[in-house]
Amino acid sequence: MTFAIHGLAVSRGIAIGRAVVVASSRMEVVHYFIRPEQIASEIERARSARRAVIDELRRLQEDMPKDAPGELDALLDVHLMLLQDEALAEAIRHWISDRLYNAEWALTTQLEIVSRQFDEMEDEYLRERKADLEQVVERILWHMKGAGSPVAAPVAGAAETVADTPLVLVAQDLSPADMLQFKSKVFAGFITAVGGKTSHTAIVARSMDIPAVVGARAASQLIRQDDWIIIDGNEGVVIVDPTPMILDEYSFRQRQSELERERLSRLRYTPSITLDGQKIELLANIEQPGDGPAAVRAGAVGVGLFRTEFLFMGRSGNLPGEEEQYRAYREAIDGMQGMPVTIRTLDVGADKPLDKAQPKDYYLNPALGLRAIRWSLADTAMFRTQLRAILRAAAHGQIHLLFPMLAHRSEIEQTLAQLHQAQSELDAHGVAYGQVKIGAMIEIPAAALMVRTFLKYFDFLSIGTNDLIQYTLAIDRADEAVAHLYDPLHPAVLRLIAEVIAAADAAGKSVSVCGEMAGDASMTRLLLGLGLRSFSMHPAQILAIKQEILRADAAKLGPWALDVVACDNPADMLAG
Ligand code: PEP
Ligand code: MG
Repeated sequence: MTFAIHGLAVSRGIAIGRAVVVASSRMEVVHYFIRPEQIASEIERARSARRAVIDELRRLQEDMPKDAPGELDALLDVHLMLLQDEALAEAIRHWISDRLYNAEWALTTQLEIVSRQFDEMEDEYLRERKADLEQVVERILWHMKGAGSPVAAPVAGAAETVADTPLVLVAQDLSPADMLQFKSKVFAGFITAVGGKTSHTAIVARSMDIPAVVGARAASQLIRQDDWIIIDGNEGVVIVDPTPMILDEYSFRQRQSELERERLSRLRYTPSITLDGQKIELLANIEQPGDGPAAVRAGAVGVGLFRTEFLFMGRSGNLPGEEEQYRAYREAIDGMQGMPVTIRTLDVGADKPLDKAQPKDYYLNPALGLRAIRWSLADTAMFRTQLRAILRAAAHGQIHLLFPMLAHRSEIEQTLAQLHQAQSELDAHGVAYGQVKIGAMIEIPAAALMVRTFLKYFDFLSIGTNDLIQYTLAIDRADEAVAHLYDPLHPAVLRLIAEVIAAADAAGKSVSVCGEMAGDASMTRLLLGLGLRSFSMHPAQILAIKQEILRADAAKLGPWALDVVACDNPADMLAG
């Protein structure tokens, strides 16, 4: 039966494919594709874990004290029966050999399918057996973990080997690190039940230029493995089990958006200049050191934001050392062929946990807690390791060093003291390093309101509108329940942005916007009118923004933009 689920449109385009539903087990489960030659060993890993649990339960049964309640014995019988069920073993083999899922993924996929069958049972006793099955599966997963699972690495070219039909990933939640793991474009689209428009998971989906809908509540419960799915990333709609007529309509729309992309690609070499001759700098946001060449191909003239935290995530506390980071930063510089690279120091915390295992409620209020520069200043040894690596890389190219989430003058001074100390440490060891321009992100209202202080210390500013909106409006950017209140056009937000741009201009210092607003074509005219001349965004957005710039007269937009900022309802003026 065809039905639609509504969520938030976070990454444009249309994807049509079969659903891969990632079950949310209580245990941390890794999901990755294996290579065809690993099928046999992976099936064996699943089999031996299952055997180990059977042996364990049998031993428990044999050693059971005589006076133990009879129910306990019966319960173990049920668990053994579930474990020995050949259908379960066969299904696990199927997911491993036909889909190339790793053993843990195969097991939890089957759990999801059988759980639904249990849910549909009339008989209450049978329905309750679902909990038994979950316990059995968790025991097997524990055994697999003990046996050590191979490193979860995305397999290049897996898409070709997995299936002929495109696959779309459906999950309750995906961490930004999970998303990056699928960066080899195995999936044609993503759907998650939770998340906001500027959650980091959504940002990574956009950077991969893959259609995605987040905040599609209940998606992971309503969609079944292998269901045919249409993701409309423009409208934020997911259509499940579409009729042939609907499929035709969306295939048509898919072709239209491909044509539109082709048309835009002709602007690749056109200089980014407004009708009145203003030169506008279009920069790329990147997440990984190897993202540079794609940014250059997309027409970026530099990197405006390298989110270095992705180098640190999902490593079970085994953080990259100075040498590894140095190589990563050099790779980013080399990839940009002499153009400047803005490297932002670590910004973990809130919806970017270092490790998935870190519980979400680890902090009382993560977005307001130990995040970004606060994290770095709480672990200065780690901070200086990163600073030394960046300074050393600066000997090989133009680096702009950017600090996230500063709000206090004391933080600015501590940060700069750490930078000087890192330089002294390199001097003391006679290690070569380069000069960097230093910049601050303006992403807390306090920073925007005291921008003149920031301008005394820094060479440039970068406005992080994602957080500036979150903190000005007290809206958790990752929470779909308040996503409707996340408003880039709120007059308070616009006033802060306008003032920061004007103050930087007056001080003769450069300012850019690197939040998602910079890549939103409906905002380009307004930002140009406010005097912004540098935009940093996902490479996939660059040409659409360039098109807006080529059609705009920045001087004429000035007075209009000031009126928009001063009015009560900017959204109306922008639409009108
Ligand atoms: C921002 O807050 O706008 C920003 C660019 O940083 P991040 O999205 O990584 O928090
Ligand atoms: Mg931010």
